Amino acid sequence: MADRLVVIGADAAGMSAATNARRGQPYLEIVALEKGEWTSYSACGIPYLVGGELTSIDDLVARTPQQLREQHRIDVRLHHEVVGVDLTSGQLEVRDRLRQRTITMGFDRLHIATGARPFRPDVPGVDGDDVFGVQTLDDAKVLLERARLTGSQNVVVIGAGYLGLEMAEAFVRRGAKVTLLDAGEQVMRTLDRDVADKLVAPLRGLGVDVRLNVEVEAIDGGQVVTASDTITADLVVLGIGVRPNADIAGQAGIELGPSGAIAVNRRQQTSAEGVYSAGDCAEAFHLVAGHPVHIALGTVANKAGRVAGINIGGGYATFPGVLGTAITKVCEIEVARTGLTEREAITEGFKPVAVTVDTTARAGYLPDPGSMAVKLVAEAGTGRLLGAQILGEGKHVGQAAKRIDTVAVALHAGMGAAELVDADLAYAPPFSSVWDPVQVAARKLTSEL
Ligand SMILES: Cc1cc2nc3c(=O)[nH]c(=O)nc-3n(C[C@H](O)[C@H](O)[C@H](O)COP(=O)(O)OP(=O)(O)OC[C@H]3O[C@@H](n4cnc5c(N)ncnc54)[C@H](O)[C@@H]3O)c2cc1C
Repeated sequence: MADRLVVIGADAAGMSAATNARRGQPYLEIVALEKGEWTSYSACGIPYLVGGELTSIDDLVARTPQQLREQHRIDVRLHHEVVGVDLTSGQLEVRDRLRQRTITMGFDRLHIATGARPFRPDVPGVDGDDVFGVQTLDDAKVLLERARLTGSQNVVVIGAGYLGLEMAEAFVRRGAKVTLLDAGEQVMRTLDRDVADKLVAPLRGLGVDVRLNVEVEAIDGGQVVTASDTITADLVVLGIGVRPNADIAGQAGIELGPSGAIAVNRRQQTSAEGVYSAGDCAEAFHLVAGHPVHIALGTVANKAGRVAGINIGGGYATFPGVLGTAITKVCEIEVARTGLTEREAITEGFKPVAVTVDTTARAGYLPDPGSMAVKLVAEAGTGRLLGAQILGEGKHVGQAAKRIDTVAVALHAGMGAAELVDADLAYAPPFSSVWDPVQVAARKLTSEL
């Protein structure tokens, strides 16, 4: 009998692995078990669906089960949830949700790509029908049905992370009155506070009622109760971050890391022989901090999944690690970050030096030059770059994206601030000044250092 690979979870990390394993092993039997209704989809597009820029959930599907079957010979089984893993016998316990029955399935190799789930705070009412976490297309379907049913006039978003901000903006565009609550003193804790504070006025300008330092005490019958207020809510959206779906792995005796995500080496192998993992359920090595972390991003899931698949398919590949490079759009502002923030650098034991420059995105003499704030962080003494945060505003999109990726590559290369000053970056007036904004920041940083 041919070897059987079973993949648990049929999105980014699962299907990247499955298609790459197929390339390496034409005769491998590949079964993908997915508890939801969709495969290979972009959860990242959900806010655009909610906001009305897209009209159908199917717009977010990159590869259907039929395409995966026909083009890659992957036996996709939807509505199949793995509820137990027995490493000794090589058997999975699988709940067939449509037929309401439990079956067992053997595996020779296993890839766990179960993703993450929205964090639910320990608050009375948080598991109610009107409280939604948004992680998968199945979540989006339920959320949209509810929004249509209630008219979603009043929406409360709990948690001002990037996802909370994207969902808040999406519901404003849908015509809702949106209140955004966060227990912390700033929005987007993946940024330093001085950078994040610049996002609050634009959010309020858009119509989002941003309330910081507010703890939710209960969610009860269409109302969100805080210490000082009771807010009406047709629906409540959670944006407090995610936790890895690592329970079935942990229960099977597979090693979890300190973050609670599945521990993997650079070939995406877990502690169990023949068992791989990647994506939001697994850890990744942080290239600046120098230890494993849990960072839930589609970029990481696709790359790490590819590496797992090459190894499962008999090849040799390693995934070096992550920097948490991410970009989002808040109102008309591009918000980008990579590496460590100044605060994170201190927590990680570095002695950081940080500078911020405010400049234009394009040559200042052109119409609509846009504005750009670049915060660069480096290590005192060595000058080694540790991270960057960039806000770009203007009608020319991609300005912050171009810059953050420059710094990300510099971090990959272990460059110092002085080396970034001399890097041969492109220039023409529609794209930047002759000194690119990140190099202006690097020059200032070099003199500070
Ligand atoms: C609204 C939103 C916006 C985002 N925007 C961005 C962005 O702009 N950029 C970016 O890089 N990332 C973004 N992300 C994050 C990105 O979508 C995830 O990092 C990525 O989807 C992770 O892929 P994954 O395959 O690891 O997990 P998932 O996409 O979560 O897939 C896991 C799959 O496993 C299935 N599953 C779970 N448990 C089981 C089980 N026991 N049995 C069977 N199946 C199971 C789930 O149903 C799911 O389909 C966004 C996420 C959201 C929700």
